[in-house]
Amino acid sequence: MDTIAAIATATGGAIGIIRVSGDKAVSAVNKIFKPIGKKQFSDIPSRMLAYGTLYDRLGNVLDSCMAVHFDGDKTYTGEPMAELQLHGSPAVLSEALSGLFEQGIRQAQAGEFTRRAFLNGKMNLMQAEAVSDLIAAHSLEAANNAAGQISGIVANGMDELRQKLIGVSAHFLAVVDYPDEDIDPFLENELCNTLIETENKLHELRASYERGRILREGLPCAIVGRPNVGKSTLLNALVGFERAIVTDIAGTTRDTIEEVIRIGSLTLRLQDTAGIRESQDIVEQIGVERAKKAVDEAALVLAVIDGSVQLSKQDIDALNSVRNSPLVILVVNKSDKGLTEQNITKGFEHVVKISAKQGEGIEQLRDMILSVTGMNNVVFDGGIITNARQADALNRAEIACSQARKAAQSGMTPDAILQDVEAAISALGELTGQSVREDIIQDIFSRFCVGK
Ligand code: GDP
Repeated sequence: MDTIAAIATATGGAIGIIRVSGDKAVSAVNKIFKPIGKKQFSDIPSRMLAYGTLYDRLGNVLDSCMAVHFDGDKTYTGEPMAELQLHGSPAVLSEALSGLFEQGIRQAQAGEFTRRAFLNGKMNLMQAEAVSDLIAAHSLEAANNAAGQISGIVANGMDELRQKLIGVSAHFLAVVDYPDEDIDPFLENELCNTLIETENKLHELRASYERGRILREGLPCAIVGRPNVGKSTLLNALVGFERAIVTDIAGTTRDTIEEVIRIGSLTLRLQDTAGIRESQDIVEQIGVERAKKAVDEAALVLAVIDGSVQLSKQDIDALNSVRNSPLVILVVNKSDKGLTEQNITKGFEHVVKISAKQGEGIEQLRDMILSVTGMNNVVFDGGIITNARQADALNRAEIACSQARKAAQSGMTPDAILQDVEAAISALGELTGQSVREDIIQDIFSRFCVGK
């Protein structure tokens, strides 16, 4: 295989790292880097950092820097590797890379180091995808989860499930070869138990995807209510500073405002919307349209009412517009003015009384947001799926297991049962990469950065 090299660090840093992987890694670096002292770079023991001088293609001193090589196959890629730690000048890094290319090394493509690690059996596909997630992680929780996945916590479990299914289907294949024989009831029992266990585990992991998506993308949340109920004030209270314009004139918030806030481990993408109401004002009409869109896209709606006055038709309209939203918290605002007794909470499972202006009840609202979204007490140890491809493969594996189980329970022939078991094995194989199409692998790694 070719030896590849790439700059692994972003431009502009004090230090820049070039990674090299392949059989020629050490000999190529040997040509452009001389350690201080008598030893050549290739004579420095594996994994020991050497300080020395880097030369450009004309033989001029390019940098005083460090270099290290990792011999054998116990490396990230499973091939011999070398690394140059240079000063971060783009000119230095680019010239050092050109020096390596002159030794017959080529530029690594996006994700090629990790792709080699995958192909050399250093990690499976789930772990490789977690590497990309870790690089892209915006929060500590997302990073913890990705790091947990790189360690193989989930992938190894999936592999075990797959091996078990392969074992059971091997028993069954023997039966298929002798169609006149009945299935041994013990075997059938064993199969059903394995399928049920697999189904449950797959379901649990698949169910974590919703949380995983929230972790990665944040939760879209719309603040809805008629003008003047205190939506902007609530947004400001949640955000902690003056972001939305707050006035007494109805319709001040003419457009949607997005604000990203953190509540515990939850990232909330808050949209303050213009009140959803009929309006003749063109600008406001656009705002109203956007508000409707924000509600459609929201995974959580904060429906705000002014609890100090009787509900108006506008309030009822606004509340009705969110009745079909997946998750709604009814926020009864202006508690400092004294709340009127009214039958508003009817039909709303989650209700909180606050004064956005005084900051009262905001803590309870934050706690409620965490609990209704299932983001309280979540452990981010890698057990959360953040990736649509994985969720899809899990889903298919779960469905196939359930079909196989039903087939077995209803006394279908072994080959009918086996067909579904095979489908489950194949979907699990896609998940970890044992049986995945080349174009999918290509697509996954092309989304990586160069140098990883
Ligand atoms: P929006 O149109 O729904 O965004 O409402 P605003 O946030 O602009 O608030 C409208 C008016 O209600 C402003 O004068 C706010 O100061 C006032 N307001 C908002 N929340 C409270 C509250 O909790 N208590 C009281 N007394 N006034 C509030």
